[in-house]
Amino acid sequence: MIKIASHYLVSGGILIKNPVITLSEDGTIVSVESNVENIDSLADVKFYSGVLAPGMVNSHSHLEYSYVEGKISQGGGLPHFISSIINIKQTDNTPDSEKSAKAQYIDAKMWSDGVTAVGDHNNNDYVYEVKEKSDIYYHSLVELFDMDGKSADEAFHWGVDRAAVHHSKGLAATVIPHATYTMDDRILSLCGGSVASESGVKADGVLSVHFKESVEMAGAEESKRIFSSISPQRDSIMLVHSIYASADDINKAQEIYGSKLTIVTCPLSNIYIENNITDIEYLRSRGVRIAIGTDSLSSNRVISMIDEMKELQERYPNIELAEIVKWATLGGAEALCIDSWAGSVEVGKRPGIINITGVDLDAMKLTKNSSTKRIV
Ligand SMILES: [Zn+2]
Repeated sequence: MIKIASHYLVSGGILIKNPVITLSEDGTIVSVESNVENIDSLADVKFYSGVLAPGMVNSHSHLEYSYVEGKISQGGGLPHFISSIINIKQTDNTPDSEKSAKAQYIDAKMWSDGVTAVGDHNNNDYVYEVKEKSDIYYHSLVELFDMDGKSADEAFHWGVDRAAVHHSKGLAATVIPHATYTMDDRILSLCGGSVASESGVKADGVLSVHFKESVEMAGAEESKRIFSSISPQRDSIMLVHSIYASADDINKAQEIYGSKLTIVTCPLSNIYIENNITDIEYLRSRGVRIAIGTDSLSSNRVISMIDEMKELQERYPNIELAEIVKWATLGGAEALCIDSWAGSVEVGKRPGIINITGVDLDAMKLTKNSSTKRIV
């Protein structure tokens, strides 16, 4: 048995004072006690100063673009970003072994920071091995990006086959659309799961799609295409970024997808590309589930969930620490449909435990010095 204690525990949006958590050797939570006295001097209990929390869930990344670090200039807007990425894919001759090594470095960093699970958009094979060997749980979101001369049905089946390769390696994977602007209606609907392919295959499971990411995507046409192509039968619907989602867009998405809806915000990436972020206050007022992602090093200077949380804390100083941490943990676990074992510190779960230090314990807010470290 492992016993750990701290000044505070935040889990599921709740703040618990003076907790003692008991875990079995494999990390399964056996008990959670609160308001324990003499918390920092108990026998056989390791004390951590600051705050404990469950392992984090990075709900939006592109591990395969780790090698693009620093290659795309900041602040050019989405069209500039997309043309740069396409150009890099076509002309950059970084060998796959180097791309894989960079992905591996990011994977190891996420694990030691305390990331337990990742929703990772996936186009390329060179990250399979990194994910297979990782201690992190990856859900690969096999993304149809361009059709590469194939028909919509052929392209879709290429994605279905790729998901099957992931499954054969023991990795979770589902087929998803990249975004409206890279896809025609047929492929969007196939990947969204609202229609079956000519051979009768329908996409299902967890879905993630880039949504309202730029001024160019702000119009009503974008929402119309997404809502008509993405089936409410999918297990989970993550609308990623949603920077320019209007109140009507959010209300309509809630109406169609109900509790399956998650808005994934990637603050630092959104600032990098668009110098704007998701309207968090509106999402809170509507009770929409929020999750946090880092996106990739192609549009972020760092892959760090605590840096994303710090940006949100700075922009929304009134929001409680427990709520922001919930977005970075349980929000993502529910979105990836892994909340039976991850996302919160509850008996029987095995979420991993992190220590958040550098917290202002009087105000219970993150500060510039806040950081995270995995302890279980
Ligand atoms: Zn993305």
